[in-house]
Amino acid sequence: MAVERHINFFELQKACAEPSCPLCRIIAARAERYIDNMLFEHVSDRGFRAHYRAAGGFCAFHARNLESFRDGLAVAILGRDTLEDRLASLKRRGIWKAQRRCPVCEEQERIEGEYLTFLIEAGSGEHAEELREFFTASDGLCIPHYEKLLEYARHGHGIFPRGRTIPRWLIAFHESRFEELLRRTGQFIEFSAYGRQAEFAGLSEADKLVWKELALTLRGG
Ligand SMILES: [Zn+2]
Ligand SMILES: [Zn+2]
Repeated sequence: MAVERHINFFELQKACAEPSCPLCRIIAARAERYIDNMLFEHVSDRGFRAHYRAAGGFCAFHARNLESFRDGLAVAILGRDTLEDRLASLKRRGIWKAQRRCPVCEEQERIEGEYLTFLIEAGSGEHAEELREFFTASDGLCIPHYEKLLEYARHGHGIFPRGRTIPRWLIAFHESRFEELLRRTGQFIEFSAYGRQAEFAGLSEADKLVWKELALTLRGG
């Protein structure tokens, strides 16, 4: 556990130095690695193959790069299972129904849980000061991830108990970030009105593009 925490800490620190939600960034990188790893190393792994088949393949989002994947054989082996099942249903004029969720989506949710609980624990742990320093210098969590943080803290997640206390600084940081985003969005809308071109021109580059930041913060990813 100690080693794992160490890795989380440094991975989080690295992601915080980049723009937008650090957790979205970590998850995107891990999902990509997971897909690579599964297709290259574990395509014949019974557990993975059964899961993939029961899910009817990856979801549309995670399957989007399969046709340009380097290893056609892996894609063919996995796809054959899926096509067999779909075809059997189609011949009965039925629609095939998935028994499980996309394996990458499940893996993402596991990683989310791992990092959010880590954030809660480490945020008031031994290295809290260091964590707080680099985290509050980042763009912070997107709204969907911040909501998950609140949910996991209240209801627990996986092996983590419910009713955890989120470090005060983490709440204050996000609330003031979202408040500020709301203020800047309001300002952008006001200054976009006819006759306020001069004020609009006076906005910083970031404030002129606040709608992009808003869309990303609301959606995550
Ligand atoms: Zn996020
Ligand atoms: Zn998926």
